Amino acid sequence: MNTTLRTDITIKEICEGFVYNELEGKGLFGWSGRLVIQPEYQRNYIYSSMDGGKKEMAVVESVLKGYPIGLIYFNKVAEDKYEVLDGQQRITSLGRFITDKFAIFDEHGNPQYFHNMSSDKKQKILDTKLLIYICEGTESEIKEWFKTINIAGVPLNEQELLNAVYSGPFVTLARAEFSNSQNANVNKWKAYVRGNVNRQDFLRTALDWVSRGNVSEYMSRHRYDDNIDELKTYFNTVIDWVSGVFIDVKEEMCGLEWGRMYEEYHGNSYNPQEVSKEVSRLYADPYVRNRRGIFEYILGGMQDTTLLDVRVFDDAIKKTVYERQTQEAKEKGISNCPLCALGSDSNKIKIWDLSEMDADHVTAWSKGGGSTMENCQMLCKTHNRAKGNR
Ligand SMILES: [Zn+2]
Repeated sequence: MNTTLRTDITIKEICEGFVYNELEGKGLFGWSGRLVIQPEYQRNYIYSSMDGGKKEMAVVESVLKGYPIGLIYFNKVAEDKYEVLDGQQRITSLGRFITDKFAIFDEHGNPQYFHNMSSDKKQKILDTKLLIYICEGTESEIKEWFKTINIAGVPLNEQELLNAVYSGPFVTLARAEFSNSQNANVNKWKAYVRGNVNRQDFLRTALDWVSRGNVSEYMSRHRYDDNIDELKTYFNTVIDWVSGVFIDVKEEMCGLEWGRMYEEYHGNSYNPQEVSKEVSRLYADPYVRNRRGIFEYILGGMQDTTLLDVRVFDDAIKKTVYERQTQEAKEKGISNCPLCALGSDSNKIKIWDLSEMDADHVTAWSKGGGSTMENCQMLCKTHNRAKGNR
C-alpha cells in the first residue's frame, strides 16, 4: 500500500463544501467535493451524542489550544477523489462546528458559536493544518489495513469490512434495501434472519444465500452493478418459500440456514396445513430436544431423527434393563443381546458387558415410542448400529 503524508491541508480546505445531513446523521462531503466523509459502510456520526456532546466540543477545543487531534486517513478511490478511512468523526465535528451546528463554552462558561467567535479564534481554527495520510492500495491491502483500525472504538465486523472493500453502487443499493431499519419488510424478515439490521447482518444473510456462501466473490463480481435485482429476488424467493411452507412463525426459525434449505428442498411439494400439524406435534413432544431441527426434519420427509436430538435413555434405565435382560438370558443359557440369541454363530450364547451394549427403542421414537423403561431393550453395539441404520 502506498501512503503519502500531507501536512499542508487546512481545516478550512477540508470543510469547504461541508454538508451535514441531519436525517441520516452523517457528515457527507468536504474538501470542495473531493472527499466523501462518511462512506456507505461507515457508521453514522456519533460524537454529538457521546458524553452529551462533550466529545465533539473536545475536538474543537483541542484545535483552539493547538493540541493535535491525531492522524487522519483518506483512501484515494479515484483521481482526486477520496474517502475518509479514519477520522470521519473528527472531521464531522469540525464541519458541524464551522457551520454552527453546535456551540462550545468559552472561559466564562458561555456558549459560543463559530459565527460569533472573535476573528483571531476563527482564523486559528480555519488555518490549523491536519495530519492526513492518503492511502492507495489494492482491495486486499485496504482490507488488511482496515482490520487494524477501530472506528470509534467498535471494530468493523466482517460484513462492514467487505462493504468497505467493495464500496460502490452495488453496496449502496444493497444497503438501502437490507441495512435500512426504516424498510417496512424488516419486521417480516426478523422472523427468519438473526441479527442487527444496522450492523449489516441482514445484508450478510441475503448475500450469503444468493452466493451460496461465497460472499466476497459475489460482491467483487457485482461491485459496479447499478442494480441489486438478483440479490433482492433471491432473498424474497427464499423468504416467500419458508413462510409458504411453514405458516406458523416460531421463534426457533430465526437464523436457520434457510438459503441452503431452499436449495435442497424447494423442489418438493408440501401441504402447509399438514406441515403445521406436524410442527405442533413435534413442539409438544417432550422427547424432541432440538426444536430448531424440526423444520429441516419435516422438509426432509421426517427421516433424519438426528436433527431433533431425541432424548435418549438415561443411565439408570439402561442399567436396570441390562440387569434384567442379563439375568433372564443366563437362566435360559442364551445371549443377553436378543438379536444375537436368534443367530447361529458363537455369539448366540455370549453375555455382553454393559459397556459393550447400547439402548434401543423397541418401538421407534418416530412411531410414537418413548425413551422409557418399557420401551427400552439393550442390544450389542453391532446389532444396535445395524438396527439404527435401517
Ligand atoms: Zn447382538
